Amino acid sequence: MSFEQVKYDVCVANRILAEVGLATGVLASLGHSSQRVPDAPDRFIVKGRGYAIDALAAMKPEQMIVCDLEGNKIEGPPNSTQCFEVKMHSSIYKMYPKINSVTHVHPRFAVVMSILQAPLSAMCQEGAEFISKPIPVYPHVKTIQTEEEGVEVATLIDGGPVLLLEGHGATTTGSTLEESVMRMMWLEEQARMNWYAYCAAGPNHRSIPAESLAEMTNRTPLPELPHFVESMQGHRPSMGGVWAHYSNVVSQGI
Ligand SMILES: [Zn+2]
Repeated sequence: MSFEQVKYDVCVANRILAEVGLATGVLASLGHSSQRVPDAPDRFIVKGRGYAIDALAAMKPEQMIVCDLEGNKIEGPPNSTQCFEVKMHSSIYKMYPKINSVTHVHPRFAVVMSILQAPLSAMCQEGAEFISKPIPVYPHVKTIQTEEEGVEVATLIDGGPVLLLEGHGATTTGSTLEESVMRMMWLEEQARMNWYAYCAAGPNHRSIPAESLAEMTNRTPLPELPHFVESMQGHRPSMGGVWAHYSNVVSQGI
């Protein structure tokens, strides 16, 4: 995969964050997705800053910045910079070679729940497994700017899928751009449902019971069910409908 292809894909991911409401309104220029370059694992590509329209929804592939694992800008347009929290990305890539994508935004419901110190629990299917383990919380509202802060965040996330930054935002990881962005969407969906429940029934509201969640795993694969054997023969149904849809939508404007 060429650097140009990764720049295009990272641009699409950043635009999707805006399209799904994770970087809109007063948050329109806040947040960034990145991807490690598959053929050059000591390089990653992240959204840049310093453009006339500095909003995720308006990003162009050529405005993505190539960085090394120290967070230095290696390549990008004149007068552009890496995203200001680049150390969050570089520190995670440096510490965890298997992580290939990092997404950070300031999602409203996840942020308010972090300040309430209300641990998220599974309230709907989407992201239920992902939310079933306690999420680490970085107990500072400041942006991640220094080497020390980047290392603190990378250490706290511990190679896992998600970290909350109290009163600030959230960071998700993945083996692909799709995974880190979808995890952010799931996190915010669960946080929104937790907020609804918190408002309706208080901090001790019910959530999906563990035994009910357990029923979602280790199931007979769909293609092995008698009524699907023929229609799914030789292929697995596509499961990435959300990502494919929003990729298509945001690509129209690039
Ligand atoms: Zn931030």
